Amino acid sequence: MADKAAESTNNKHRDLLESTQRVVQSALQKLGYPEEVYELLREPVRLMTVRIPVRMDDGSTKIFTGYRAQHNDAVGPTKGGVRFHPEVSEDEVKALSIWMSLKAGIVDLPYGGGKGGIICDPREMSFRELEGVSRGYVRAISQIVGPTKDIPAPDVMTNSQIMAWMMDEYSRMDEFNNPGFITGKPIVLGGSEGRETATAKGVTICLREAAKQRGISIEGARVVIQGFGNAGSYLAKFMHEAGAKVIGISDAYGALHDPDGLDIDYLLDRRDSFGTVTNLFKSTISNKELLELDCDILVPAAVENQITKDNAHNIKAQIVIEAANGPTTFEATEILTERGILLVPDVLASAGGVTVSYFEWVQNNQGYYWEEQEVEEKLEKVMLKGFQNVYQTAHTRRVDMRLAAYMVGVRKMAEASRFRGWI
Ligand code: GLU
Repeated sequence: MADKAAESTNNKHRDLLESTQRVVQSALQKLGYPEEVYELLREPVRLMTVRIPVRMDDGSTKIFTGYRAQHNDAVGPTKGGVRFHPEVSEDEVKALSIWMSLKAGIVDLPYGGGKGGIICDPREMSFRELEGVSRGYVRAISQIVGPTKDIPAPDVMTNSQIMAWMMDEYSRMDEFNNPGFITGKPIVLGGSEGRETATAKGVTICLREAAKQRGISIEGARVVIQGFGNAGSYLAKFMHEAGAKVIGISDAYGALHDPDGLDIDYLLDRRDSFGTVTNLFKSTISNKELLELDCDILVPAAVENQITKDNAHNIKAQIVIEAANGPTTFEATEILTERGILLVPDVLASAGGVTVSYFEWVQNNQGYYWEEQEVEEKLEKVMLKGFQNVYQTAHTRRVDMRLAAYMVGVRKMAEASRFRGWI
C-alpha cells in the first residue's frame, strides 16, 4: 500500500478505536463503575504482532504481518475471528477485539473478546499461498491461543477452508486432534450445523424484532443490503424468502438497484466466493448511492465507516441494522438517532456468528453433535434475549441503542474482573 493510503487507513482505525473507547467509558460511567475499570477495559490485555514468511508461487518469499488481540479474559477464554484484508491494522484489531467482548456480553457467552488479522489480499493469492499464510499465522500465535485460551474463527475474507488449515496446523503442533481450537470449520472436521448462516440468521432475528417495534411488516418491506459476503448474501436470501423486496445490494466494486426487487436467486448463483457479483452488470450505482436509496430497512453488511456525518442526513431508511462491524461512525449514530431512525448496533445485530461458534465449541468439547434445528432454536432464544435486553435498556435509561448495547455488553466483564480482584 502506498504510504499516504496506509496513513489514512491508520488514522481511520485510530478514530475507530478512540470512538469505541469513548462509548465504553460512557457505558461504564452510566453503570456507576469507577475510572480504573475503564483503564483496564480501554485496551486489550494482550496484543501480539507476528511476521509470517511465505514462499510464494513465483519462488520469492513474502513476509506478511499479522496480529492477535485479546481484550479481556476475566469471563473466560477470548474468542473472535481472523480477517485477511489489505487494510488490517493494529488499532483496527484492537477495536474489533473490544467489540467481540461486548458481543459476548450481550448474548451472554462465557467468553471475552479476541480478534486477529493479517495484512494481505486473498483475492490476489493462490490457494497454496493462502494455505501458507494460514499455517504460518497459527505457528506464530500458537503460544497464546488454544481451546481454553483464545479461540479464532472466520471473519472478513476468511472461510471454513482457512479454518480447516489452521486447525490442522494447530493439531499437528499439539500432536492430537484438536477441533475446539477454532470454530467455523467444515462440518466433517467438527464444524456446527447452522454456523455458515448464523450471522445472517442473527441479523434476521434483530431485523424482525426491530420491524415489529416500528410496525413494519417484513412482507413487502423494501430492503437494501450493502455487501454480498457471508452475512449479506445469506441475509438477502432469508429476506427474499420472507417476502421482503430486496431492492439494492452491493459488493466492493459497485451496487445494483431495482425498485421492483432484484433477482436474488440469480445473484446468489453468480456471486464468487468473495461475494463479487456486480462486475457481471453494465448498469451499476455506487456504494454511496446505494446507502441513500429510498427504502424501509438498510443493512450495512460490508466494512467499517460507511455511514458517517457526511451521509447520515441522507439516509432514508426507517431502520438501520448493522450486520458488519463498525459500519456507522459514532457521530452518524447520533444523527440517525436524532432523526428518529432505529439503529440496531453491530455488537448486537452481528452476534449470531459468535453465538453459533460457541455452540460449535461446546459440541467439540462434548464430542456430541446437534441437529440444525436444535442449533437454530438455541440461536433464536439467545438473540431474542439479547435484543430485548438492549432495547429495554435503551428505553429505560433513555440512551441510544448503541450505548445501551455497550452497557449490557460491558457489565459482565467488569463484574468478572472485579470478582477476580483485578480492579
Ligand atoms: N468474526 C465473527 C464476528 O465478528 C465471528 C467470531 C466468532 O465466531 O468467534 O463476530
